Amino acid sequence: MLARRTFLKISAGMGALAMLHLAGLGGRGKAAAAEAAIELPPLPYPENALEPYISARTIGFHYGKHHRGYVDKTNGFVAGTGWAEMDLITLVQKTAGKPEQTSIFNNAAQVFNHNFYWHSIKPGGGGEPGGSLGREIKAAFGSYQGFAAEFKDAAASQFGSGWAWLARDAAGLKILKTANADTPITLGLTPLLTIDVWEHAYYLDYQNRRGDYIQSFLDHLVNWDFAAQNLG
Ligand code: MN
Repeated sequence: MLARRTFLKISAGMGALAMLHLAGLGGRGKAAAAEAAIELPPLPYPENALEPYISARTIGFHYGKHHRGYVDKTNGFVAGTGWAEMDLITLVQKTAGKPEQTSIFNNAAQVFNHNFYWHSIKPGGGGEPGGSLGREIKAAFGSYQGFAAEFKDAAASQFGSGWAWLARDAAGLKILKTANADTPITLGLTPLLTIDVWEHAYYLDYQNRRGDYIQSFLDHLVNWDFAAQNLG
């Protein structure tokens, strides 16, 4: 219960989740509640903007087919039920760990995770962060290199489909990996950035070389401005 209360306290302030709601990543538009549905947010850059590190072909399938599919399935599963009026983050948190709601959770959490992923990368990103986030990373991991090594290990060692995250809680920054649709927002953690390590995220461009995709993410794609915003 302590972790839960701490989490509520954090999110009740102008924490990262509140910021995400404001940024539209919470996933529901301002349309009338009767018409409300989980939305597919626009991609923050053109589909070819991340080349040569992530191809337009990968983005076309990943955003246009996989992400859209999670949105459509979520809306299909919640239609006509008591879950239909909930914003995305509430939906994810309230269906987590409930076996009878696994279909809603898996799809809704994947919508959130992908909303978050597209903002975790940007054209011309990557390298070492500066500012207060750079200082916090050095405090938590010893150096940027220490952070990068631990992040790469988490992303590379996630067995099968999943995600690696930089997140924070009251104790500070931490790196974690989650399987399938699992997400730090059900674990009392505030995510700062994520990498998708499902094969659909990299297989067209890197085939089995997940490590090369992770290295490109760190060197050329990470959106540290987004991560710093989430730090609050
Ligand atoms: Mn994905």
